[in-house]
Amino acid sequence: MSKTLTYEGVVTRVRDASAGLYELDGAVVLCTAYTQLHNGGRGLREGARVEACDVHLQQSPSPLFPTIILSTCLRSRVRVFEFSRLSAPCSLFSGSGNLFLHLLFHYRLRLPEYLWVCDIIRQLQEKLRPSLVRQRCLTQHTESSSHGVTEKLLDSSLSSLSDGRQERDLYEEMVANPHNCPLRAYSPLPPPWCLPPLSHFSSLACKSQYVRRKESNRSLDWCHYCLPSEDISPPHVLLGVLHASSSGILQLRDRSSSLTCLILPNSPIAWIGCVLEVRQYQLVVETLQRKDNAIEQRNR
Ligand SMILES: [Zn+2]
Repeated sequence: MSKTLTYEGVVTRVRDASAGLYELDGAVVLCTAYTQLHNGGRGLREGARVEACDVHLQQSPSPLFPTIILSTCLRSRVRVFEFSRLSAPCSLFSGSGNLFLHLLFHYRLRLPEYLWVCDIIRQLQEKLRPSLVRQRCLTQHTESSSHGVTEKLLDSSLSSLSDGRQERDLYEEMVANPHNCPLRAYSPLPPPWCLPPLSHFSSLACKSQYVRRKESNRSLDWCHYCLPSEDISPPHVLLGVLHASSSGILQLRDRSSSLTCLILPNSPIAWIGCVLEVRQYQLVVETLQRKDNAIEQRNR
């Protein structure tokens, strides 16, 4: 069970205003996603001194974040009692079209799950934004029947995590005694899967803990490694935009790198230009030793 306390500190970083994540005193994370902020959190700028009253303290809810997380619920208050003297930019928290809030309420997320979702969205933005996919396609929620890229990616995992949970009763959370809200009970959540940049996969198959199959031919100074996705823990999801070169070679691309792909049994032309999520794959790395001893790697 989490404790509640009052904490006073200085905002040292706005981690993500849309997600309601701020850093206090360079060490503590303040999460305001479970409550409403007056004026969109206008005063929560770097350099502002704030007091967070009756906030829930959770220790190590996620290995992806610092140890101490303070979270506001409907009984908490955040008071800015010294405005920032820095000319820090203002990032407003808006509930309208906010994908983070939509996921939080729709899937009835606990804090450890919410923090993992925030990290996945950060990784997704780093991979695709803005050269491959526009920002609003990744972080804006629209009331249309079809999910956007982010929700399609997360839907099955979040549905299985929140399966059977009751809908939140906001009135009860505010007035009931003893107090009961989604932030009271928690257990740490190891990341169910991760979304690394494609450049990370180049070296993955050759790492000693993953080497299962290696074939080599010394006369050709050639070897190759094979790594099935089931052997990687936690599961690494391949995600990028499918691209076709003029010579017909298919590549999965993100901002960090590209991987040559062979899609079996057929390569659907309609997928070219789309964001692809691949969970079952085989990673093949060829290593060629040239005469000048330089090592050349080719990934597939
Ligand atoms: Zn609470």
